[in-house]
Amino acid sequence: MFLGGHPFVASTGELNFISKSLTNKESCSCGTTINECGEWARVFDKFARDHGFDPRHDPYRLGLWDSRAFNLVDTSHQTSIRIASMQFRKALLNVRELLPDSLHKLTRIPSSLKQAVDNKFRLIEAIAGAWQKTHVIDSSKNAREAVELWRHKPDQVRIILLTRDGRGVYLSRRKAGRSREDSIAGWRNYYRKFIPLIERHVAPDCFLRLQYEDLARHPQSVGIELCKFIGIKFTTSMLDMGTTTLHLASGNDTRFSASKGIRLDERWRTDLLGDELAYFEAQAGELNRHLGYH
Ligand SMILES: [Zn+2]
Repeated sequence: MFLGGHPFVASTGELNFISKSLTNKESCSCGTTINECGEWARVFDKFARDHGFDPRHDPYRLGLWDSRAFNLVDTSHQTSIRIASMQFRKALLNVRELLPDSLHKLTRIPSSLKQAVDNKFRLIEAIAGAWQKTHVIDSSKNAREAVELWRHKPDQVRIILLTRDGRGVYLSRRKAGRSREDSIAGWRNYYRKFIPLIERHVAPDCFLRLQYEDLARHPQSVGIELCKFIGIKFTTSMLDMGTTTLHLASGNDTRFSASKGIRLDERWRTDLLGDELAYFEAQAGELNRHLGYH
């Protein structure tokens, strides 16, 4: 959302869920459905001209990287068979990751995922062309896909990892009624896998780690750093998130309140105490410190 305030940048949400969003007629962050959004219509019209089919009429033909939805699930597409085949491909990638570099380079990812990389670039190019942008931000969160996209076009792809203090994540999940284990598991497992994967396969100057807390406290200096990283000049329009209407096709509900800006939420400092804090420290304190939170 933050980078979407730059006139050269398109912020798109989690693109890997766009087929599901189209099928379910989900909301674009501009307020209408993605199927009726005029800006996305320009993208799909261009895509149809360039590739011979309109994603609005055949959403899953976009063929993007495996993504399992847990909210607003399209049960007609995300069947138990499809989930099993996704898990099979994920297991293959996990095994491949155990190979030493010399063997790893000789093995290929499943053909459907290789095709998904090409398909993502097609969609990105349609967005950039239709919206007249030089940079497109995809907030899909799959580390393996990020590695493969970067490998395919290392001169064009940059990877940004935005972290949040695990204590804040843990507290908000506990307040939402989730168990202690569940409140840590997703956060911990994601970063445990993401960082080693990127550090193993991606050139260090193509990967940037940012803390959400820094972004909320010092948006201008972080904005300058971000723009330098992706090779554009910082503009102050990024600091006023209410002035640009974004068209985020999928993602969490904060995309509907971009105009409120990025607010620092550190309630864990006063509300996460005693046994709860001790549990977090025992389970994930080391990883949290590794992410820079002391
Ligand atoms: Zn829209």
